[in-house]
Amino acid sequence: MREIRTEVLVVGAGPVGLCTALLLAEAGLETVIIDREQRTAARSYACALHPASLELLDRLGVTPALLDLGRRIPKVGFYEGTARRAELDFSRCGGRFPFLLLLPQSELESALEQRLRQTGTAVTWNCRFADVTKEGEDELLAQLEELGGTSTGYIVPHWELTVKNRLACRTQFVVGADGVHSLVRERAGIGLVHGAGVERFAAYEFLSDQAGEDEIRVVLEGQTTNVLWPLPERRFRWTFQLTQGELAAEFPEKERRAVRVAHLAVDERIRQHVQRLAAKRAPWFQATVKEIAWCTEVAFEHQVAREFGRDRCWLAGDAAHQTGPAGVQSMNAGFAEAETLVRHLRACLRDDAPLARLTAYSDQQVAAWRGLLGLAGGLKPRADTDAWVRDHAARLLPCLPATGAALAGLANQLKLDLDPG
Ligand SMILES: Cc1cc2nc3c(=O)[nH]c(=O)nc-3n(C[C@H](O)[C@H](O)[C@H](O)COP(=O)(O)OP(=O)(O)OC[C@H]3O[C@@H](n4cnc5c(N)ncnc54)[C@H](O)[C@@H]3O)c2cc1C
Repeated sequence: MREIRTEVLVVGAGPVGLCTALLLAEAGLETVIIDREQRTAARSYACALHPASLELLDRLGVTPALLDLGRRIPKVGFYEGTARRAELDFSRCGGRFPFLLLLPQSELESALEQRLRQTGTAVTWNCRFADVTKEGEDELLAQLEELGGTSTGYIVPHWELTVKNRLACRTQFVVGADGVHSLVRERAGIGLVHGAGVERFAAYEFLSDQAGEDEIRVVLEGQTTNVLWPLPERRFRWTFQLTQGELAAEFPEKERRAVRVAHLAVDERIRQHVQRLAAKRAPWFQATVKEIAWCTEVAFEHQVAREFGRDRCWLAGDAAHQTGPAGVQSMNAGFAEAETLVRHLRACLRDDAPLARLTAYSDQQVAAWRGLLGLAGGLKPRADTDAWVRDHAARLLPCLPATGAALAGLANQLKLDLDPG
């Protein structure tokens, strides 16, 4: 069996894994990054970058390219029916990027991958992490599988994934950035703590006759949370929460095919459905849904790992947590986690710092996520907090597009105090 050697193996080349690999390259650490898929994602998914992420990605030289691709959104408005109940204004937050940047996750992943290649590190695609074992005091041996495809079937061709080769990777650390169904997390024996149950959403991306306001609109209607995202180039996304009884697929794999096969009659039914649902949940929505570009259903769990890793296996991003889509907290928090984790890894690998540093990383992140999921602390109203905001404080928490220190600043705009628990 072929064997490779590195200082850090990153499993998963989604946005958080790519960012981790870039940070490791900048820190001068030897890195191998693998992904079981053939290429980066082909759809929007998490489509907003927080100001703090733009600053971090700017330090890595990625933000200038993203600014050219995305749409700058300085405000978030909160609605119930026709009533505008509250707003967040990023221009009041200061900083170099006082806005959210809306762009498809596929564009973000491409930009990160390109920048990573410039540092001399390329993603090893079609390579799956299978297992990891300890080798002596300071090494791990990860089992990897190189994947290939074979076409089977005659009348109906069928594409089957096969393991072409197995290889071993001798490494000092593994970072699991392998998403919500993380195998690294499972192999490390780390369980999950769950918050509010599963929330199911349908997302529709469409072209419109209008460009829309430079504002994300979060609509609380009944028990549902819905979000209108104004994307670049007269595109919008409506994310509608499905009510009890409406079914959605479990968390799906990200789509890798750039081309969507359109079915005219089906798309017309979807178009009418979106227009009707928007009129019901957001009566102020006037734009015409012209052409459906993409739609999907997805279930989000509110969950966090009991630990963000142990010994020499560590987690970042969706591998360690998940929450609802409105505040885009999971991916953006993942970038900040990657930065902190890489700082600690560098200290361990270059300055002989003890592994206990990484336990501190884990404790901090678990505490932060318990707060984000409302398992500890939460948003506390003040005497002069608006009555609607007071009544909806718990539902607003996952809708605030910030994590870490920036979250308290945004909560303050709504006259809410962030209690860390
Ligand atoms: C349909 C859909 C809609 C979404 N909408 C929103 C939204 O509106 N707002 C929001 O905040 N978030 C949304 N998300 C979630 C968002 O995409 C994630 O938060 C984000 O992708 C997390 O990034 P990550 O790098 O941590 O993990 P991922 O992007 O999941 O990347 C993990 C990578 O690991 C790879 N991998 C997994 N297992 C292995 C293995 N064994 N070996 C090698 N590679 C492996 C995968 O192929 C993948 O590329 C959506 C997701 C989906 C699927």
